[in-house]
Amino acid sequence: MARYTGAVCRQCRREGQKLFLKGERCYSDKCALTRRSFAPGQHGQARKKVSEYGVQLRAKQKAKKYYGVLESQFRKYYEMANRKAGITGENLLRILESRMDNIVYRAGFAMSRAEARQLVLHRHFTVNGKTVNIPSYLLKEGDVVELRTRDCEKIKDSMEKNSGRPTPVWMTVDKDNYKAQIDRLPARSEIDFDVAEHLIVELYSK
Ligand code: SF4
Repeated sequence: MARYTGAVCRQCRREGQKLFLKGERCYSDKCALTRRSFAPGQHGQARKKVSEYGVQLRAKQKAKKYYGVLESQFRKYYEMANRKAGITGENLLRILESRMDNIVYRAGFAMSRAEARQLVLHRHFTVNGKTVNIPSYLLKEGDVVELRTRDCEKIKDSMEKNSGRPTPVWMTVDKDNYKAQIDRLPARSEIDFDVAEHLIVELYSK
């Protein structure tokens, strides 16, 4: 399974925005973006003029990195979003939010999407009673994600550390029983990701 293996914090520095890719470290003073808030590389601090294409490209790259999705999969999501009724950019974000790894992260069972992805791959969760080990599995309204193996200390630890992180209004999390239910898919205003999704649509529709 293909995945990004480069330096993680570099991605946030490239986008000039916290993408919360490293779990606990992202909320501490050790965050690389807090310490070095400029783009990586030799010319990272140089002032550059960015073209219209460059702005659109950065919006797409930022969304891909935030959700941990590679190009071919991301493009498939765009096409899926384009076929649906409604605003394509918002549909795209809704699809990305409904991924299994994102739901596990949003519910507080993992410190980051990368960690959630690994937990899903290791068969720690069920969806409506059936084991699902596909991080890209798309959940829908009414689906219930439940922890299958209660003896995982890592998940318990993450839930404790994540207790201060707000649960999205579109899902119900039963922390005592390690369950999360998708009440509905989110509206754009309920997705706390600062990205201009219309730029991604403009880029792909060229
Ligand atoms: Fe990004 Fe987290 Fe690294 Fe900070 S610590 S730069 S938010 S991945």
